[in-house]
Amino acid sequence: MRELDLYEITRAVRELSIEANTVANPDLRIALEKSLDKEESPAGKAVLHQLLQNQDIARKERIPICQDTGFTVVFLRVGMDIRFTGGSIQDAVNEGVRAGYTEGFLRKSIVKDPLTHPVNTNDNTPAIVHTELVPGDKVTVTLMPKGGGSENMSRIKMMKPADGTAGVKDFILETVQAAGGNPCPPVIVGVGVGGTFDYAAYLAKISLLRKIGERNSNQEIADLEREWLKEVNRLGIGPAGLGGRVTALDLFVEVFPRHIATFPAAVNIQCNAARVKTRVL
Ligand code: SF4
Repeated sequence: MRELDLYEITRAVRELSIEANTVANPDLRIALEKSLDKEESPAGKAVLHQLLQNQDIARKERIPICQDTGFTVVFLRVGMDIRFTGGSIQDAVNEGVRAGYTEGFLRKSIVKDPLTHPVNTNDNTPAIVHTELVPGDKVTVTLMPKGGGSENMSRIKMMKPADGTAGVKDFILETVQAAGGNPCPPVIVGVGVGGTFDYAAYLAKISLLRKIGERNSNQEIADLEREWLKEVNRLGIGPAGLGGRVTALDLFVEVFPRHIATFPAAVNIQCNAARVKTRVL
């Protein structure tokens, strides 16, 4: 059994908070560069150039890629041969967020009581923490600062089982169309199908952890991802919603078994500032 001081989680979350918000991942950069060749609209091309330039400035000057530095969502894959010492996991993660958002001068966007007293917590805590137990003695920490603009445009629908794949496609297209320029396109579309009401949303969220271009390992689902991405890009919303061919850089689908009487589908939209960083401890 390996012992791991929870301070290591705090340290990783602190560093990943700053890195995720300031340094764009190579897959995102490559996808934006490639989309310059596909985009025919002059305004769309100009936006794509600006997004790349913005990433360069953020990386060089260590400033946020976007002013909305998000709700900090943390995914922990915890090896079952680890014993933590030094407190609770949630506290360790929150301490990392608190330190990272303060030291990195990242915007604090979380209000404590969503209904009656929406007062800023002033340190971007609490984080949302998803924990999964896995074999081994390592911990994988993945951090996603999720912006409000794209989260607001996400949807969940309890469809009828008879709606089938055609119904899911229509739901995705309706959701992206209704979102228009609000989620700062080009977007990445995360889709979760199956499970329960809550689990479909979780599936949509974890699909956004994939690298751009990474297809579902199930060939049939991978084919649907390719087909639906093409359909999304036929909507003509374009970069920043100014019209064009590049509305989405990718579309990911995650599925899970469902009850015979239910057919939950969730669409979680990610914006052009798709920020995900991982560290293995
Ligand atoms: S949706 Fe994304 S790019 Fe747009 S403001 Fe929010 S975090 Fe920034």
